[in-house]
Amino acid sequence: MPPTMPLLELPFLSELATLRRDIHAHPELAFHENRTADIVANELERYGLEVQRGIARTGVVGVLRAGSSPRMIGLRADMDALPLAELNEFPHHSRHQGKMHACGHDGHTAMLLGAAHYLAEKPDFDGVAVFIFQPAEESEGGAAVMIEDGLFEKFPVEAVFGLHNWPGIPVGEMMVMPGPVMAGTCAFEISVRGHGCHAAMPHQGVDAIVTGAQLVQAMQTVVSRNLHPCDAGVVSFTQFHGGEAWNVIPEEIVLRGTIRTFKAEVQETIERAIGRLCSGIAAANGAQITVNFDHRYPPTVNSPAEAKFCQQVASEVFGSEHVLTDILPSMGAEDFAYMLNEKPGCYVWLGNGPGTGGCTLHNPHYDFNDELLTLGASYWVNLVRRWLPPA
Ligand SMILES: [Zn+2]
Ligand SMILES: [Zn+2]
Repeated sequence: MPPTMPLLELPFLSELATLRRDIHAHPELAFHENRTADIVANELERYGLEVQRGIARTGVVGVLRAGSSPRMIGLRADMDALPLAELNEFPHHSRHQGKMHACGHDGHTAMLLGAAHYLAEKPDFDGVAVFIFQPAEESEGGAAVMIEDGLFEKFPVEAVFGLHNWPGIPVGEMMVMPGPVMAGTCAFEISVRGHGCHAAMPHQGVDAIVTGAQLVQAMQTVVSRNLHPCDAGVVSFTQFHGGEAWNVIPEEIVLRGTIRTFKAEVQETIERAIGRLCSGIAAANGAQITVNFDHRYPPTVNSPAEAKFCQQVASEVFGSEHVLTDILPSMGAEDFAYMLNEKPGCYVWLGNGPGTGGCTLHNPHYDFNDELLTLGASYWVNLVRRWLPPA
């Protein structure tokens, strides 16, 4: 099916691109998005929206009412940057040393502002559109903090929608899938305590390094031998710390890593398996092993009805052959998951182009593709009109 809704003509497109590049040049980290939040709030006020600030410190919410229906939906963009030194040299490169919009949240913010601007001028819908600009998506869980701060009590939306640019998907294509689209993440830390000794006299000690090495090897079976073969999970060690001298077997070592899963029961299975291996290998070596799990973002799971709705909305904008519905989810994580735990909704990926030259997420050569401003704003506007059709 070809597109049935032509892409929006945005009379303010060049102004929007300038704004996007200005945000790119002034990246701000989690909960410090003060300048960005000022820009967002000023823009929303200029369009005539009601604005509420200070939800999760730097979060901003804009409310646009049209017609008489009290029905309400939420659209969310993230505003924060990464602690990463930008290597691009184009004119809008980062002016804040060691900080960079390497995930395209500058573009997400601009696209959602574009949709708010357009709908404020042409409010052909019936209900309440809530534009949510959240802080601290990268690692700090700003979405959860907004919810704790009463986001959904203040704005009782029926459903909530999110969008991320996606390098590797062509421009003009969108991924919209029901079910899990991004993984839940859990950090783990394992300490292995042996008995330190002279490296030349290993019989006098308990070797924490050898014990830790056995554990790393044994844990390669956690996913392969414990999960249903059709369930997905990742267990990766990322740190192995211990020892200071050439000739000392250390008393203790510390291992750290990450677990990724799509389902709570898979996460539990993995934790139980890790626990068994830790106690078994501790006993086998006469060492003590303790393990701690730090649960971070839950899996991002789209509700089936809302995913189907978004497939329709996206098909109207991009044409159904450009809406991807069966590609593999990502083992990366996304804090929009917290909003989807509270409300039905759908999180989509909008193609950012081929990702050549390092234009991939979290790469120091990344840049948001400004061609997406019209595409993303068109999707958002069509979504609002379809969910809240004019009376
Ligand atoms: Zn990111
Ligand atoms: Zn991101």
